[in-house]
Amino acid sequence: LHVLLVGENPASAVYVAMKIKRAEKIGIKSHVHRFSSTVTQSTLSQAIADLNANPAVDGILLQLPLPDGLNAHELLNAIDPSKDVDGLHSVNMGRLMQGKHTLAPCTPLGCMQLIHQWKHDLAGLCAVVVGRSNLVGLPLSLMLLQAGATVTICHSKTSDLVAHTLLADIVVVACGRPGLVTAAHIKPGACVIDVGINRLGDGTLVGDVDFASVAPIAGAITPVPGGVGPMTVYNLMANTLRAFKSRV
Ligand code: NDP
Repeated sequence: LHVLLVGENPASAVYVAMKIKRAEKIGIKSHVHRFSSTVTQSTLSQAIADLNANPAVDGILLQLPLPDGLNAHELLNAIDPSKDVDGLHSVNMGRLMQGKHTLAPCTPLGCMQLIHQWKHDLAGLCAVVVGRSNLVGLPLSLMLLQAGATVTICHSKTSDLVAHTLLADIVVVACGRPGLVTAAHIKPGACVIDVGINRLGDGTLVGDVDFASVAPIAGAITPVPGGVGPMTVYNLMANTLRAFKSRV
């Protein structure tokens, strides 16, 4: 597993360290390629091309976000789709749309596994995903749809968020807005998945859901830290294993 880490984003450094630690622990050899925030697009493209060509490399991960001035979309699409363990290459996103994915984005996969722990069969359930990013909200919405849920996607332009979330059996929040969702947004018994990771001024990590008010009425709820985050790392390992197996 080869990770490209660009710049000095402290959160990215922590996430990469967690991924590498987990990989080493389960026996996946890993390596971090560090680049300064002034690195050029062509240097990164060349580094990716070298990893694509190296038969000893099974997984390539470009840690996001990238510093301003770099084109993440172009670099993600430079990764060999069969080594794209983050599942963000256009080919893998397209396969996900067609329901034939082998390498799908790690965080949405983790959300689905958590939701299935709550209920195995999602057919007929109403799901609201708050957030429509390519990384989380959009792929997760597709996965929920493919699992038979009726899906509503909300975002920053949604005029009445609570009107949607209150009807939902499943609410997934992936916005990066602490306290966005409170007890007033949640139907009693609903499954609430909090993807958000926000560091407050005092250093505390919180999600997008007000856990204290929502937990007593939710049927199931994930905490931050400790809920979706570890599932993301787990699925990165699973994708790396899938990529390895597809090459042997
Ligand atoms: P983005 O910033 O790419 O997307 C955020 C989404 O939230 C956008 O679609 C935006 O809408 C929407 N949004 C923002 N404000 C509101 C609002 N007030 N009401 C409704 N929707 C809103 O973020 P990511 O998807 O990359 O990440 C989301 C969060 O999840 C972050 O906190 C991130 O740190 C965390 N994260 C956690 C992971 C984990 O493993 N636990 C992994 C990846 C991310 P619009 O499109 O209209 O701008």
